[in-house]
Amino acid sequence: MTALTSLTLKAALDGLADKSFSSEELTAAHVSAVEAARSLNAYVLETPEKALEMAKASDARRAKGQAGALDGAPLGIKDLFCTEGVRSTAGSNILGNFVPTYESTVTANLWRDGAVMLGKLNMDEFAMGSSNETSAFGPVVNPWRSEGGNAKLTPGGSSGGSAAAVAAELCLGATATDTGGSIRQPASFTGTVGIKPTYGRCSRWGVVAFASSLDQAGPIAKTVEDAAILLKSMAGHDVKDSTSLDVEVPDFASFVGKSVKGLRIGIPKEYRVDGMPAEIEKLWEQGIAWLKEAGCEIVEVSLPHTKYALPAYYIVAPAEASSNLARYDGMRFGLRKDGANLTETYENTRAAGFGAEVKRRILIGTYVLSAGYYDAYYLKALKVRRRIADDFDQAFQKVDALLTPTAPSAAFGLGENADDPVAMYLNDIFTVTVNLAGLPGMSIPAGLDAKGLPLGLQLIGKALDEGTLFSLGGAIEKAADFRARPAKWW
Ligand code: GLN
Repeated sequence: MTALTSLTLKAALDGLADKSFSSEELTAAHVSAVEAARSLNAYVLETPEKALEMAKASDARRAKGQAGALDGAPLGIKDLFCTEGVRSTAGSNILGNFVPTYESTVTANLWRDGAVMLGKLNMDEFAMGSSNETSAFGPVVNPWRSEGGNAKLTPGGSSGGSAAAVAAELCLGATATDTGGSIRQPASFTGTVGIKPTYGRCSRWGVVAFASSLDQAGPIAKTVEDAAILLKSMAGHDVKDSTSLDVEVPDFASFVGKSVKGLRIGIPKEYRVDGMPAEIEKLWEQGIAWLKEAGCEIVEVSLPHTKYALPAYYIVAPAEASSNLARYDGMRFGLRKDGANLTETYENTRAAGFGAEVKRRILIGTYVLSAGYYDAYYLKALKVRRRIADDFDQAFQKVDALLTPTAPSAAFGLGENADDPVAMYLNDIFTVTVNLAGLPGMSIPAGLDAKGLPLGLQLIGKALDEGTLFSLGGAIEKAADFRARPAKWW
């Protein structure tokens, strides 16, 4: 029999349904796997007792015929989601030992459907980063290694803990968030599937805010179908988030395996950036060939404002972050470093509590919002954002979805880009446009590079058309037949 931790979420749910094993057994297997994998640093908090308690309750519900859509499935939760009675840090010292008195809507939806929580997953501080190296808990280590090498690689960021935990079989699926690529890039670096849904699909209530107009929750999973099952539970209208959309949540899993014949796929020519590694270019060509074979029509499209996306993102996101992070003043949450007076207490707390990258974002954000610079930077960036959304609107007149690489490289070494923030920001070149336009984007593992490291392809869809992405993602998954797994060394 396959080890319980090697099952896909779908197979595990089927096994629970036909009583091949109990949730308690399934959960216990994952708890042991988590304990044996501490060298990956994927979990910042393990909650084994809570997990086993939830598993027992799930088994009892199932025995009574009251099982929900995710009943008994052990999941990992990114530490950006507030979990009632369970420490939630956003990867930051400033939240210290903050224990929320409320549950985020997304996680509440998962528990409503019967899922089991294994613990909280490591992440870049306040979700700012592409390598997990800004976490106050130290970086997550990618379970993947280059062939023949043993250098520690990044799992990507900011949802690096989520991606590493799924890839190393330390949970059946995980929650993640994506402000500029933080679901898709880590999925690409770890051979997992990640989808950032349309802005407003998932409630942001109880998710620690980074850049509110860009933040969106989504799953990281082992397969396209698993991602569809998870997103169905996570999504939905919520009166507690005024930006959450009051629209029906389709049965996303029903789109997986659907024919993609006749769909028109756009290839944005501006995404062929200078210096793109030949392997990425090759993978993209391969993806085009797979979709052609599946009956899609390939169309070249133009997204002329693409080159302004990264600069615009790195104005809008820090601007919103500087405002959102003003609340961490030592008065209400977590850390406080007392000073001689109130101002000094604020200063001491924020100086001690925030890491270097977060401080950099606050400085940039405060600067671009300040009188005299607001028009030149922030307002300009908002105009660029509009243009980028218009580019997509134009393209979607002609095509049903777009295909691009997810990231400009495979996983890089820990420490490799740590001293160069701009090099780090370039990781987001193919992903930030999607957040600026509020569209859904998915990363699917599509192949390995010459060193044996996973590479992902990105599908971008029309607003609220995640269904088409699940169909196309399923077609790529089938064609790629990506079965490689990281060799266990941890
Ligand atoms: N890497 C990007 C940043 O640092 C995106 C982060 C994210 O999506 N949360 O801002």
